[in-house]
Amino acid sequence: MSGVLSKIWGVVTLKCPNCGKEPLFSNPSLVNLKEIDKMPDVCPSCGQDFKIEVEFYYGAMFVSYAITALFMFGLMGLDILLSGYLHLWELLIYIALLLAGWSYWFRVSRSIWLAIYVWFLQPIKDK
Ligand SMILES: [Zn+2]
Repeated sequence: MSGVLSKIWGVVTLKCPNCGKEPLFSNPSLVNLKEIDKMPDVCPSCGQDFKIEVEFYYGAMFVSYAITALFMFGLMGLDILLSGYLHLWELLIYIALLLAGWSYWFRVSRSIWLAIYVWFLQPIKDK
């Protein structure tokens, strides 16, 4: 896999955006909501800081909003394009899909937010 694709794959699979080896979240389960936001302080493999600053992950809310809106408008738009009409039961299924994937959307939003910081904004450290 090429470099960019493997980096994007690392974000989608919730791995460290710097090395792509270690998981971002302490508990990999998506159904354990008590530990849904628990992350190690640093990556055990490369030392990348996961707690950049206080309230760093507030920005992930905007990412979450964008991806859920894209998901819903994408599904509904495709449905309307293909069938010409959006039935209420279809809309309810799409909302159920969105709610069923909530914990993944939450985590992937954090993963994207951290990746944006690490790839484009993080100052290069002196060794
Ligand atoms: Zn790492």
